[in-house]
Amino acid sequence: MTGPLPVTLPPMRGELLSSWISRHADFYGVTPLTMLRHGLPEATSLGAIDLSLTKAQADRIAGMFGVSPKFVRSLSFADAPKAARRFIAKSPVQHCAHCIDTDIGSPPILRSELQGWRITCPHCGELFQDKTTSDGDRTLAPYRVAARRGETLLHNHTERGVETWLPPLEIARLLLMRRIPWPPPRDCDFWRYRLLGAIVPDFDDLLTKESASAFSPKHPILPLHIRPALLAGVAIIDHAGPPMLKMLQGHMMGDNKTRFVMATDHLVTPAIEWGPPQQMQLI
Ligand SMILES: [Zn+2]
Repeated sequence: MTGPLPVTLPPMRGELLSSWISRHADFYGVTPLTMLRHGLPEATSLGAIDLSLTKAQADRIAGMFGVSPKFVRSLSFADAPKAARRFIAKSPVQHCAHCIDTDIGSPPILRSELQGWRITCPHCGELFQDKTTSDGDRTLAPYRVAARRGETLLHNHTERGVETWLPPLEIARLLLMRRIPWPPPRDCDFWRYRLLGAIVPDFDDLLTKESASAFSPKHPILPLHIRPALLAGVAIIDHAGPPMLKMLQGHMMGDNKTRFVMATDHLVTPAIEWGPPQQMQLI
């Protein structure tokens, strides 16, 4: 193991580990991978360490920069639940206009810019921005408060390990499963009917305006302007509890329904004894 670098740069608030290493590479005039290999000779990719940093790797990177392994881990997603990985983009999908530092030639990449479930900056609370239009903002205005609550649930779960009756990441993925609308739609565009539309009815219409239709439990990162719908759905289900899962089962058919029941039945079955579903609340 090599000793600490002669000069280390302070990380920006919320900076991603690979971004911090890349800025050192700029400083020392080497490629980012060469910089990483200074501490981890066997490394083959810089991006991979953000997601799959091992304890041994954190120890060695910490030695290289003269910081604690715990601090190195906090710059990565190593401590996030496995289910959070699908919600982490490969490159920034949003930014905070308030926190961006325009004085720096190549601005650092922040962890929050890759977290595909966020709508606000965790450092200042401003709404994130991206390249898409903001049609959804007005449509989803009634859900704004619920969306913020959903974002907080996801933050507490992925960043602080807080446990709830059903992990919010799991709720988000369940809500992106297909549902069968009734009566059947005239246009037969069945792809756009997701369980989320049974909770946030405006979501079906918002999806018709999207050119991409690839959102699913496997690809759960929604464009920023329609993301509040998903966050609100998470908050509503978290608040209503298992009876609402039972209600959602009624919107599904076939294999899809079987998968949903298998994922949720252990939560739903005891709920039957608890009485009827609570009134849906849009606080
Ligand atoms: Zn900010």
